[in-house]
Amino acid sequence: MSFLSAIAVISLVVMFPVLLSLRTTGVPGIARFCAACALAALAASVSLAASVAPAWFHTVGGATLTVAACLLTLKGFREFLGRPPLGIWPVAITLAGLTMVLLFFSYAVESLAARVSVGAGFSSLICLLIGASIVRHWPKERAIAPYMLFCCVTAFAVATLHALRAATVTTGFDAFGSAAEPLWTTAILAARALVMPLFFLGIILMLHGWVIANLRHMIAHDDLTGALSRRAFMTELERIFSAEKASGRQTAFMLLDLDRFKQINDLHGHAGGDVALAHFTRTVRETLAGRGILGRLGGEEFGIAMRGIGRLEAAEIAEAICTAVRTTPASAKGTSIAMTVSIGIAMADPGGSLAEAMVQADVALYEAKAMGRDRLSIAGSLHAASAASARALAGAAAQMRAATAGAIGPARPLSSTG
Ligand code: GH3
Ligand code: MG
Ligand code: MG
Repeated sequence: MSFLSAIAVISLVVMFPVLLSLRTTGVPGIARFCAACALAALAASVSLAASVAPAWFHTVGGATLTVAACLLTLKGFREFLGRPPLGIWPVAITLAGLTMVLLFFSYAVESLAARVSVGAGFSSLICLLIGASIVRHWPKERAIAPYMLFCCVTAFAVATLHALRAATVTTGFDAFGSAAEPLWTTAILAARALVMPLFFLGIILMLHGWVIANLRHMIAHDDLTGALSRRAFMTELERIFSAEKASGRQTAFMLLDLDRFKQINDLHGHAGGDVALAHFTRTVRETLAGRGILGRLGGEEFGIAMRGIGRLEAAEIAEAICTAVRTTPASAKGTSIAMTVSIGIAMADPGGSLAEAMVQADVALYEAKAMGRDRLSIAGSLHAASAASARALAGAAAQMRAATAGAIGPARPLSSTG
């Protein structure tokens, strides 16, 4: 079996610097995983030396190192999964208890089988806890789900193999150390030697997946407001537009610009302005309630893309956003920061282009500003809507708003371009 132990040692030694290189990324639990990998490599080295070292060294040293590696891995997973950290005491008590039992079976009652089964039993139990923690606190990030599954399966595999080892040694089925080991014992030993490197490979893949997912999230989102970054918004907008175009449907595009934001900065300072921007984004997101995507296009200018809605519904949603922003001021250092927003809406036709719709929304926004701000303006699409129909729609929207004024606040003027 020594060549399998050698493979295990080499694999774990190779994986250690890979794990170490991830320390700078700040991924939770990385320090524990590094230490666990080093201990697992040491434990595998002890197995490698089994043929030349005394039996107690192999069983006591190997078991203690393996259990310590498993405990550190459990600590690492708890940190990674955002669970309360496992304190020093449970770790110290487990290791002290294990050492005492191993010493008991070394000096008080000499039993090699008992030492092996106790060590394997402890490792099995801890790996079972690792697998159960992963299942119970399955992370939300879908990108790392396959790696988590891999870690979970290998954790349960390590637990099963150690349990099997403990059971076979206890019941005398395992010809431990004998040259005439049955084939299945050899197979279990081989799997046991190689499953630990596989487990750490899974951990490395999971951590890499986390780092990539985190970077992607950071690139795709504006860190002040949490809205999509301009690039991510444009990519998503194009994707939505293409999908809607294929089904012959329109895409609603809104351009939002906070009114007189320079004055907010002048009155409340740049920090107050930042608070107002973050608050504004929250308000818009709550009003949207998942019906569209929100991106920060730059400064105090935002974009919204919505699929599957008509011009009238888009106008209603924009109106609800204007009302929500107006009626829920931000608060910084105990001071209330009143805000209003102007919105330009354009419906991107399947037969037209997104660039045209964006220009239309920009013109509509300009009009909303020119008409006094704190309102929406809806543009006719380049291909379908005439000025007359846009006005008719605007009239209909105004009537609906008047009818539902009690529910969504006072009616605001609605203008139209085109
Ligand atoms: P209008 O109603 O015409 O849109 O007036 P405005 O003052 O909002 O327009 P303008 O584009 O002239 O000013 C936008 C201001 O937004 C200027 C800039 O300092 C401020 N701004 C842009 N980005 C940020 C930011 O991230 N934080 C803060 N605090 N202010 C910002
Ligand atoms: Mg502005
Ligand atoms: Mg602006």
